[in-house]
Amino acid sequence: MEEIDGLAILLLDKNGKIETWNKGAEKIKGYKAGEIIGQNFSIFYSEADRQKGVPAAILAEAASAGTTYHESWRIRKDGTEFWGLLTLMALRDENNELMGYAKVTRDLTEKMLAEITIRQQVHDLELKNKELEQFAYIASHDLQEPLLTITNFVELIQSEYSTTLDENSKVYFDFITQAATRMKCLIKGLLDFSRIGSENVLAAIDCNQLLDDLQQDLAASIAACGARIEYDNLPVIEGYPIEMRQLFQNLIANAIKFREKNKPPLITILSATEEAFWWFAIADNGIGIDEKFTDKIFRLFKRVHTRDIYEGNGIGLAHCKKIIETLGGKITVESELGRGSTFYFTIPRKTKND
Ligand code: ADP
Repeated sequence: MEEIDGLAILLLDKNGKIETWNKGAEKIKGYKAGEIIGQNFSIFYSEADRQKGVPAAILAEAASAGTTYHESWRIRKDGTEFWGLLTLMALRDENNELMGYAKVTRDLTEKMLAEITIRQQVHDLELKNKELEQFAYIASHDLQEPLLTITNFVELIQSEYSTTLDENSKVYFDFITQAATRMKCLIKGLLDFSRIGSENVLAAIDCNQLLDDLQQDLAASIAACGARIEYDNLPVIEGYPIEMRQLFQNLIANAIKFREKNKPPLITILSATEEAFWWFAIADNGIGIDEKFTDKIFRLFKRVHTRDIYEGNGIGLAHCKKIIETLGGKITVESELGRGSTFYFTIPRKTKND
């Protein structure tokens, strides 16, 4: 007992008076055997804990249950605190009479401090994230107004001065209108992005039904290129309906948009239900993505293909990533140039909000 390092091991009488003391106890609590034996173990507790009757309650619990465990801040001889994990075992004689207690205390201060630091960092990060989202929301919301003024006045000039404007001015105003329209899309994308995660009613979503509906919405672009979307037996999942629809819509719209010339898109959606999550794969036979860009495409406003060939703002996949990560899932892509891409994502069956 003397030699076990890092553990304070002592015997108490039935009132909590200290009877034995080991080196581990001396190291953790700072008292020498001569100055502590005979004192009550409540000396290790703060004044507030003593007033609340914590030491007596721990003794009573061990007496009735046999053994009890307790974790809290305790006081060393020099007044500093340590985080102790205490195990207290009642000792009884052959007639079951309480003789005293064996007490083992482990000093977990470092572990506790590390945990407090991590908790603080997580808290700070969550706060920063919220602030950023708030910032994106306010910035994009407030940017809409001056933009609207610009487009309104450009329209006004174009209609009121149509006869007096020369050809060059008309072209310049067209450029302004195009840029303003694009900026409107970007701002809307940013606003929508900052709103992801605010839908807070989880619902059962039948993915077959969701895809049937989506096919109807996308009917024009599906018909225009002869796309085929294959799925069967998809699960009913738990998620946020608007965001899930957005997720599938973005992935399918991309699979249609980034198709090979003269090759009708074939989009296959597969799913598996695992114990902890639902797994989905959306595969296309499109142009594919160079492997070195497969991380980049999930970032906001990042695109690989130029806008003159494939229109877009580089927002769709950033939305998908945020939707999935808000649910605690993951989204990845595997792709080969000229062969097609497969997007994989998981949705935990027990969501973070449970
Ligand atoms: P956008 O479609 O507006 O460009 P996204 O965020 O949806 O924005 O996609 C980012 C980029 O990822 C696209 O510009 C494109 O280069 C690439 N990409 C996305 N989906 C596919 C796909 N199915 N096939 C090939 N490239 C894709």
